[in-house]
Amino acid sequence: MVTLEEIVSLCKRRGFVYPTSDIYGGLMSSYDYGPMGAELLRNLRTIWWKAFIHDRSDMVGLDSQILLHPQTWVASGHVGSFNDPLVEDSKTNKRYRADHVIEAWLTMHPDPTVVVEDMTIDQMGEYIAAHKIISPEGNALSKPKTFNLLFETKLGVVEGEKSTLYLRGETAQGIFTNFRNIVDSNRVQLPFGVGQIGKSFRNEITTGQFIFRTIELEQAEIEYFFDPEISDWQELFTAWKNAMWTFVTDSLGVSASHLRWRRHTDKERSHYSKDTYDLDYQFPFGWKELWGIAYRTDYDLTQQAKHSGADLSYVNPVTGKKIIPHVIEPAAGINRLFLMVLTEAYTQEEKRIVLKLNSKLSPYKVAVFPLVANKPELTQKARGIYTELKKSLSVAWDDRGNIGKRYLAQDEIGTPWCVTVDYATLEDDAVTVRDRDTTKQERIPISGLIAYFQQKLL
Ligand code: ATP
Repeated sequence: MVTLEEIVSLCKRRGFVYPTSDIYGGLMSSYDYGPMGAELLRNLRTIWWKAFIHDRSDMVGLDSQILLHPQTWVASGHVGSFNDPLVEDSKTNKRYRADHVIEAWLTMHPDPTVVVEDMTIDQMGEYIAAHKIISPEGNALSKPKTFNLLFETKLGVVEGEKSTLYLRGETAQGIFTNFRNIVDSNRVQLPFGVGQIGKSFRNEITTGQFIFRTIELEQAEIEYFFDPEISDWQELFTAWKNAMWTFVTDSLGVSASHLRWRRHTDKERSHYSKDTYDLDYQFPFGWKELWGIAYRTDYDLTQQAKHSGADLSYVNPVTGKKIIPHVIEPAAGINRLFLMVLTEAYTQEEKRIVLKLNSKLSPYKVAVFPLVANKPELTQKARGIYTELKKSLSVAWDDRGNIGKRYLAQDEIGTPWCVTVDYATLEDDAVTVRDRDTTKQERIPISGLIAYFQQKLL
């Protein structure tokens, strides 16, 4: 299997991903997407949007803001419940909840006088130090710190009068706060869903897994609203799980053997959730969450209604019954999809590295070359084909170096087809089309090229 180092190296070498602020030595857990990466991200978003919004009749899209009214995050529980007392292993930098570390220690050293829930963060620190409690890996622990995953920022121009806002920690809350607007301004009826793709921010401490866990991330989230008395939640939940799985295998071309479902345990699950699963992918560093699905009941709409005073109910147009809809949430990370498709596509062959990306994902669909450089008649002919194909496809041009090197460069960025104009082209108006995966070459008339590629891309 490909290593993370090999992927990181390809990403930098071929313009998929660079460390953010590279010239300043980088910024913790932050990455920029280069010319190839930007195209791949766009393709992932487009394919997701098509599958989950355009191809369905029960879904609409949304584009809400990164900065929302701060009460949104109080209502959702993010402001209150992200205040974990965190300690770090001094050697591995793995982080743990201080209260959990103490509870684990107390199971082996019972002391009924200690009530962990009642301890302040300082008391936890003192207790850990006094009893020399160590991390599960056997190393010393840092002093506990209060840690909230939400990023704070300020709104306003007058010092001292600025108000605190949060960069959203998930895109989902923008869907809940717009529920009334969406129902009132669109002809939607339960069950229906709202999908959104956008940036979220989390002050994550864990580092070192490339774009898997970053502080700025892109999410593709769906809130699927329904009346639990009319729709069976388990049926909907299974249907959404199937849709997620099929998307990854069929639309993104990932092998089912690299995927698995993991059900959250009762303790792990949020208190308001009735069921939660993670769709895990076998990343180079192990099985990790790619996409989560949770049945969040009516928790979020109820909370947002309570804190805003707005009526977030839905009136059944047939029965007139008023309810707060329940919701199923499939939430994916676009950056994790990105890392997954690169991991899946990376193929080391004897003489080349090939990214066997699904052609719909490839940054360029076609590359056009003149067989040799500095031959004006070949360059002119090839340039004409390039310009024509570019009207309907994303096309690369390369006339540097020898043809073998150009093929290798296109293989590494996953371009499925290379078109070469040679001397015979000047006679027969046909070109050589080379297939990325098989390296087989075919002679195709120029007049039939667009149809040829469009057929392949269907
Ligand atoms: P994890 O357990 O890995 O921290 P999570 O359960 O907190 O993830 P959710 O809140 O369910 O994640 O977010 C939905 C999706 O957003 C995840 O399945 C993941 O793909 C993506 N995601 C979450 N946090 C990050 C991050 N820091 N960097 C990149 N993607 C992320």
